[in-house]
Amino acid sequence: MYHQPVLKNRRTLLERAEKFISDVYFTDCNLRGRLYGDSCPLESITSFLSSKRITFTEASKQNFAPYKVGDTFGPTWWTCWFKVTLKIPESWRGKEVHLVWESDGEAMVWRDGQPVQGLTKEGEKTSYILSECLKDEEPHSITLHVEMACNGLFGAGQGSMIAAPDPKRKFSVQRAELVIFDRDVRQLMTDFEMLVDIVKELGEGEQRGYQALFTVNEMVNLCDPFDPSSFSKAHSLAQKFFSQRNGESQHTVHAMGHCHIDSAWLWPYEETIRKCGRSWVTVIRLMEKNPEFVFTCSQAQQFQWVKSWYSELFSQIQHYVKKGQFIPVGGTWVEMDGNLPSGESMVRQFLEGQRFFNQEFGMHCKEFWLPDTFGYSAQLPQIMQGCGISNFLTQKLSWNLVNTFPHNTFFWEGLDGSKVLTHFPPGNSYEMKGKIEDLVKTVKNNKDKGRANHSAALFGFGDGGGGPTQLMLDRLHLVQDTDGLPRVRMSSPDELFSQLQADSALLCTWSGELFLELHNGTYTTQAQIKQGNRQCETLLHDIEIASSLALCRDRTFLYPVEKLQELWRLLLLNQFHDVIPGSCTEMVVEDALKYYEGTFSTQSVLDIRRDGDALLREACAALGSKGNSTGVFNSLPWERHEVIQIQDDTEKSGLGMCVLKRERSFTSLRQACHVIFLTELCVTLQADGTVLMQNGILQTVINKNGTLASLHLISANRETLSDGCCGNQFVMFDDVPLYWDAWDVMDYHLQTRKPVLEVVQPVRVVSSGGLRGSVSFTLRISDKSTLTQEIVVDATCPYIKFNTEVQWAESHKFLKVEFPVRVRSPNATYEIQFGHLQRPTHRNTSWDWARFEVWGHKWADLSEHNFGVALLNDCKYGYSIHQNTMTLSLLRAPKAPDATADMGTHHFSYAIMPHTGSFQDASVIQSAYNLNFPLRLIQCSPDTVPWSAFSVSTESVILETIKQAEGGKGTLVVRLYESHGSSVTATLHTTLPVREAWHCDLLERPDPTQPACVTSEGITLNFSPFQIVSLLLML
Ligand SMILES: [Zn+2]
Repeated sequence: MYHQPVLKNRRTLLERAEKFISDVYFTDCNLRGRLYGDSCPLESITSFLSSKRITFTEASKQNFAPYKVGDTFGPTWWTCWFKVTLKIPESWRGKEVHLVWESDGEAMVWRDGQPVQGLTKEGEKTSYILSECLKDEEPHSITLHVEMACNGLFGAGQGSMIAAPDPKRKFSVQRAELVIFDRDVRQLMTDFEMLVDIVKELGEGEQRGYQALFTVNEMVNLCDPFDPSSFSKAHSLAQKFFSQRNGESQHTVHAMGHCHIDSAWLWPYEETIRKCGRSWVTVIRLMEKNPEFVFTCSQAQQFQWVKSWYSELFSQIQHYVKKGQFIPVGGTWVEMDGNLPSGESMVRQFLEGQRFFNQEFGMHCKEFWLPDTFGYSAQLPQIMQGCGISNFLTQKLSWNLVNTFPHNTFFWEGLDGSKVLTHFPPGNSYEMKGKIEDLVKTVKNNKDKGRANHSAALFGFGDGGGGPTQLMLDRLHLVQDTDGLPRVRMSSPDELFSQLQADSALLCTWSGELFLELHNGTYTTQAQIKQGNRQCETLLHDIEIASSLALCRDRTFLYPVEKLQELWRLLLLNQFHDVIPGSCTEMVVEDALKYYEGTFSTQSVLDIRRDGDALLREACAALGSKGNSTGVFNSLPWERHEVIQIQDDTEKSGLGMCVLKRERSFTSLRQACHVIFLTELCVTLQADGTVLMQNGILQTVINKNGTLASLHLISANRETLSDGCCGNQFVMFDDVPLYWDAWDVMDYHLQTRKPVLEVVQPVRVVSSGGLRGSVSFTLRISDKSTLTQEIVVDATCPYIKFNTEVQWAESHKFLKVEFPVRVRSPNATYEIQFGHLQRPTHRNTSWDWARFEVWGHKWADLSEHNFGVALLNDCKYGYSIHQNTMTLSLLRAPKAPDATADMGTHHFSYAIMPHTGSFQDASVIQSAYNLNFPLRLIQCSPDTVPWSAFSVSTESVILETIKQAEGGKGTLVVRLYESHGSSVTATLHTTLPVREAWHCDLLERPDPTQPACVTSEGITLNFSPFQIVSLLLML
């Protein structure tokens, strides 16, 4: 066709093409206006409203009342079920027929009692395809059900996405009708859209962009929207462009369908189950039509939910897993937080996840998949490798507020030297749309150009579910190999990582943690969830040890395999990356706290504390041969001298000094004895109103306002606190982040520091001597909040403990406690999973000052040569140690997404422990364990002989876990780790009748090359720094 050459005006040509497919402008005459043909109303719509999430069977029995499109219903979190009858006109023979359904809630279409299609306007899914090409023999009269949740893809935030949900929102169906869909128009529109995007994304500097511009302009010339016979000419022109191929060196993008579903976030766990159903059934529909489509899917918990709620869908998923299209990834129970769960919890995330994937799909995941959590522990590489995983995918560090992470493809080296091949998709997203922009970004942002020529692109709506669409698949299919764009292939994590591994010779290594320079408030927000996590981790630890030992003491004892698995799974679920960080709504918090401690009336629902306590009692009863005397159960593998509260029938309640004497005894059972202890413990109220407390190890002077005027380590004759400064100083900060309220504390909050000075009740002596000395005082934090604290000094105890109660009713404030100490060191040490690491105490570089708020577990320490101070805690995770001031973060008060976050009463403890030598030599690690794992009183017979099952010859090696092997009876798993950062040889002594022992991995698979040598002395084990060793002990 001859026409005038176009003028050199890029803008008019580009906009002309854009308007040709616009859904806003010129739809009367453009191509977009032809996408849908005739429409036809539904025969009838009736509805039924339910406050609960009920099954299809239950819903289908209800009385449905007539519904008119546009009518509103609700409120938020209810469910509206619709019954839809429709009749497709016979005249639509040969056409593609859709049920169009547009509503502001997420919906699921049910047909013949089965879920068939998820519908979400926000996820660009508003059609259920009734026929692709209507034939006479197809059913024309159909009845469907539509289950519509009264919440959007992102819940129901009031005003903004992360605002607290509006509980009274009303919902409606805006459109419900049958339409003819023109697939040819859709195809041609995709051609147009991709060419337009190429013009825009390649910009004015690229020759290829102009080729796209002239192609698309010529297509407009050729295409008459009202004459379908003109479409093929335009399409051929597009094809000619898209089929001009790349050279061999072009970058390859591995496209993988994905659907990030937060296991709970702005919606409760129960809604997530339906989100999985809606998203995954849609994926199955796409797989039926697109045999090359690959979808990656993480979180065993979500598979478990779908298995129990949608069994037919689960079978279909199993089918596509077998075909290699539906690919379970990650190997964990949920996509957990990467900072706060304990080492053992992280192991269990993989153990439960990998076991589930193996049972249901006959496979183990080879990659760890955690695209969306708020930093990654330096111990993860070792844990991954121990669980059969050597590849890792995430992208969250692209959210760093201060520094740009320097790699996309690299080796990540953990605390112990373990390495995993790591890939951050350079497009910096886990929810791409298959657009040109995504592909161009993937190439441009890649910081390993020339080293790694393969990248991942994950496409599909995410966070709230949704997943990929046919349009995304069509887009990617179109540009598989188009000159000027990266090569695109539908791929799997396995293929991607194999390619990266094959070309890994030039890759760089990043050593240590992957610290996210954002969301640092999540170490503190929702304090009760964090406390629940720490206490339940402790409880499960103790149950497993007591039950394992009970197995050896009492042949009739049954190890509670199933119950323990259920409790662990609840704990692991709450470690999801928006639950334990506290970045979730009030409803989620309520659910999470119920899992820790139930307020359920029904006994059928488990909670960890109630059911766990019962399991512990049963195990301890089997250990203590039952009886009415009191014994003590120590679940830690070392000697302990502690003051404990005693209560039993024979003696009045009171304090006892419990001495678990046997050298390095693991567990001793003996009557708690009131030892008359030669103690120098005394507490004296002085003339100036201050109180002097000392126990022979420490001497402290407490001011009237509860601050420490002095803290003296007697053996070293050394003052701990800085000159002119007070310890235990509470401080308040304004805490207004830029946007992510529950998530973020910004650097500028440090400029708003205000000491808490107003005394309500000055310090008074509660207990003046004997085994325990204590004082208490009350401060006013504001006119809304108060703080009462008991400061405790126990006989023989190397630390001072602060039992704290806070009535907290603040808004956007941050409460911390400070200890300025007489120590100078460029680095402070923080406990992490199975080890510790150092972070700077100065702010030299941007990488240093970006860590103004960091996370740690049970302790942090600031030491110079031969002297240091440790700050211990029993349920906190946020720390900052700047120069010589050690600060523990206590409570925050964000208002979104939970407007009531952290309001109410809090109880927590922390402790300060000055020491000589290094923290390793001073047993800081053991002290922090002691604070967190209280000695437990149990009933036993009066003649019970003290008994110890395990001990370890070296203090640096900690026996962390003892459990029955997943393989079953007669075998125990013990897990130890080197905690000092040293290479050592240790001997594990046991009094149990061990027949043989084998090294095994964290999934408890024995290593046939590594029998462990059992002698009368015990089992000799070699450790490198921070190495985790697991053994199978056959009894
Ligand atoms: Zn997420």
